[in-house]
Amino acid sequence: MSEGTTPLGPLDELQALLRSPVGDESYAPFPSQPKMFDCGQHLLKHINQVPTKGFFAVLEIKNISRSYVYGGALANLMVWGEILKITRECFPGNFYMGRITPGLAIHGWGDDVQSQGMAALVELEARLASLSFVSPQSGHRIDIHISINVGFLVYPDDCGFLDDFTNVTRYAALTSIGFEAYQYRSRMQRFTSALIAESDRNSYIAERVEDAYATDSMAMVYQPRVDIRTGRIVGAEALIRWDEMTLGPIAPNEFIPVLESGRQIVAFTMFTLDKVTKYAAENVAHRTDDFRLSVNISRNFLNWVGEGITPLVSDLLERNHCPGRCLEFEITESAYFHKDVADTIKLQLERVKQLGVTVSLDDFGSGYGALTLLAEGVATTIKIDTTTTRSVLSRNSPLHGFLPLLIRTIATSNIQLVVEGVEEEWQHRALLDQDITLAQGFLYSRPLPAADLLDLIERAENEPLGPPILTPS
Ligand code: C2E
Ligand code: MG
Ligand code: MG
Repeated sequence: MSEGTTPLGPLDELQALLRSPVGDESYAPFPSQPKMFDCGQHLLKHINQVPTKGFFAVLEIKNISRSYVYGGALANLMVWGEILKITRECFPGNFYMGRITPGLAIHGWGDDVQSQGMAALVELEARLASLSFVSPQSGHRIDIHISINVGFLVYPDDCGFLDDFTNVTRYAALTSIGFEAYQYRSRMQRFTSALIAESDRNSYIAERVEDAYATDSMAMVYQPRVDIRTGRIVGAEALIRWDEMTLGPIAPNEFIPVLESGRQIVAFTMFTLDKVTKYAAENVAHRTDDFRLSVNISRNFLNWVGEGITPLVSDLLERNHCPGRCLEFEITESAYFHKDVADTIKLQLERVKQLGVTVSLDDFGSGYGALTLLAEGVATTIKIDTTTTRSVLSRNSPLHGFLPLLIRTIATSNIQLVVEGVEEEWQHRALLDQDITLAQGFLYSRPLPAADLLDLIERAENEPLGPPILTPS
């Protein structure tokens, strides 16, 4: 942070504190943490008293570990030194920084602090994205691209006046987390008070889920997979439903990401697999056709269990007397947008297939791995998701010819195509016209409780699902 900016009157004391000797630690870029905390308390006290603003940002610094590779601890220290130097150059003198676990905390004050802080962050992001240093090992100049996640707030605009400095920093930190979806891009996010509610809710969800397994509040429902030419049910997708005691029904799209952020996804997936394989053994295994129940499998489950996947799944199948052929793993393709991840997952899926389990690609077309997984015969079913279905079936869509083309492309392979999200009769007819065989959707059935699925399978033998079958006159 460059010297020379005149601080606001009541903040002289803070300036003096910032410039005071650091005590027992003398490494300049990282002043002692207690001193930083004192400065923070001080800053808050003054901002509460004078009509000026504060800026608090938490910077999560990513990819830094790469620097070890080019010269171990020494290179790492050099890169950190470079990051700190650049940060000091980007922010004016009314900002200071502290060291926190994911990276840096930046604090600033002044009437223009919001625009100053934003401009500095944008500059910092650009400079860190193209950072270079000389490797102490090889003497070569190495480019490394550091990305940052930034959570920031403007005080008191974003959270009102607070007495406790820890709260302000907690709020800044809250905004810097939860970026999993963007892990290969840097992001900035401003604090909103809704984040507090969201984080409290997520903590509650993570806490309650263990109990839910033991109660009936969490159960699987099954959505039939229909052969639309005959109206018969040829399989079903298992979908989780959670009616939590206090919060009421929680959508899978809300709570699964919470479980995925930690190891809880393993227990959760095992819970779903246990339910589904038991159900399959009792109700599906005796069927001679290739009736299968599919289960949605999170990427992080496959990552966490590693090679243990084979004993885990084979023990489960054995314990529940379920043949592997009754089970299908649905893999959301968008979760494998990074090649390295896709390779690991592919290996995991091949292990599962050894047990007779099949694999389908959910949300086909949304991610990196689709073609590889298909070309190498790992996945044998493609599922087109609800939104894609809607757009490719519309006559006005430039993608109108997509399904017939896809069908022709896979005609000589063993790949099956399932179209999801069929809600209306015209969509059903369009699918028949385009020689599509398999579909799911509200038009045929909503997801059903286990017992109801069995009834519907029987009923569909006599009364085909979907609109009446038109016989040519
Ligand atoms: P998905 O696997 O693509 O599941 C299809 C979703 O579309 C389900 O939502 C289903 O209820 C809904 N759906 C089915 N037919 C129609 C239709 O005609 N129109 C519309 N608009 N929607 C339809 P749901 O149950 O809320 O699940 C959402 C997502 O949550 C699933 O997407 C899946 O990715 C995930 N999920 C659900 N259950 C589980 C589970 O047990 N484990 C894991 N890991 N993920 C799950
Ligand atoms: Mg699915
Ligand atoms: Mg789907």
